[in-house]
Amino acid sequence: MVTSAPKGTKDILPEQVYKWQYVEEKFAELCERYGFKEIRTPVFEHTELFTRGVGDTTDIVQKEMYTFEDHGHRSITLKPEGTSPAVRAFIEHKQYAEVQPTKYYYVTPCYRYEKPQAGRLREFHQFGIETFGTGDMLADAEVICFANDFLGEMGVTDIRLRINSVGCPECRKKHREALKDFLKPNYDKLCNTCKDRYERNPMRIIDCKSPECQEIVKGAPMMIDYLCDDCREAFEDLQKNLDALGIEYEVDPTIVRGLDYYTKTAFEFVTDAIGAQGTVCGGGRYDHLVEEVGGPPIPGVGFGLGIERLLLLMENLGVEIPEPDAVDAFIAVMGDEAKACGLKLLRELRQKGLRVQMDTLARNVKGQFKYANRLGARYTVVIGDDEIKAGVVSLKEMATSEQREVKMENLAEELIKREE
Ligand code: ATP
Ligand code: MG
Repeated sequence: MVTSAPKGTKDILPEQVYKWQYVEEKFAELCERYGFKEIRTPVFEHTELFTRGVGDTTDIVQKEMYTFEDHGHRSITLKPEGTSPAVRAFIEHKQYAEVQPTKYYYVTPCYRYEKPQAGRLREFHQFGIETFGTGDMLADAEVICFANDFLGEMGVTDIRLRINSVGCPECRKKHREALKDFLKPNYDKLCNTCKDRYERNPMRIIDCKSPECQEIVKGAPMMIDYLCDDCREAFEDLQKNLDALGIEYEVDPTIVRGLDYYTKTAFEFVTDAIGAQGTVCGGGRYDHLVEEVGGPPIPGVGFGLGIERLLLLMENLGVEIPEPDAVDAFIAVMGDEAKACGLKLLRELRQKGLRVQMDTLARNVKGQFKYANRLGARYTVVIGDDEIKAGVVSLKEMATSEQREVKMENLAEELIKREE
């Protein structure tokens, strides 16, 4: 048992990790262009942050959190999402007192006790961005535009943007009553979780994954038809901004999102190319979350994007991620004197920025060449007694087998020149 990772977790081995590094690098680079700054928050938080922030009628809080008591009898939870911790840090460090808006990005592991399947893990990773301090729909449009551009830069084509408005606490009241009236005749047929939601947060029932509940909510009154003037204008504004940006979208009144804190804008990027877990990115506006968590009344908007789902999608779409060259040169040595000389060169070349390897298993010459091939070295630098006497090395290009002598002191320069 100890030799297999816990269910729902995955190792990322060196031969896969370059893909992660690629998307992480591109994400950070785009954040820079958009003016989002990285924030890193702890992997665990006080449980209360999530019960208040994410909301205690959500799947996440009701059944998915990794919660435990630490040795000081505090209730601690591994972060199931990135927004609440970012909000907590924003409040704790009084970032609202700085010039607004505050624009964060993060790359974080998340933990949710779910049934593992393709694109659904217990430890997964998210990219996220958040804009605090503005209620203007320009901010919502910017966040959506970012996700759209990022997915585009990742070569993702087969994906659709769906947007909705989930209103505000004011207009939600009316919708809530209408929805309860609609669901009442079928109350007994709802799943137990939804029976509980019926009083506490009936809108969550629309998002229930149980097929029986899905059937019951068909034809239910939709929030979008109950928006107050302010929320309706905001939604129209958002669409105008997206039109101006040239971003394609469809309005989907069924989007509720899995977290309680959303107000007004809710959106998802969905694909059919990775099976049932087709939501790659989800986000929206949360005008009361900062206050709910204990800060001043400051609005925010953001998204979370699942990195595993993104990579799965890129793979299924056949997007090529450039694999970095593994090794520039391998130093093959014959004899003790050559080994000492090779060691010195090894260090020097590495200090000059080259990727250089040498054998550490005392292989014979033939074995060293075989190993150099296995490593995919572009060049092999051969050093033996003759070379040492002459102060040279033989430089062999592995692809062409072309070999020539190079003065030892010129080797670094020669390799760097050939790199370019
Ligand atoms: P789903 O409906 O698929 O459960 P969600 O609404 O719970 O998603 P969010 O909380 O909005 O998802 O998280 C944002 C993104 O994180 C999702 O769109 C998805 O790409 C990713 N994600 C969420 N849960 C998981 C998981 N268990 N494993 C892998 N990725 C996940
Ligand atoms: Mg979920």
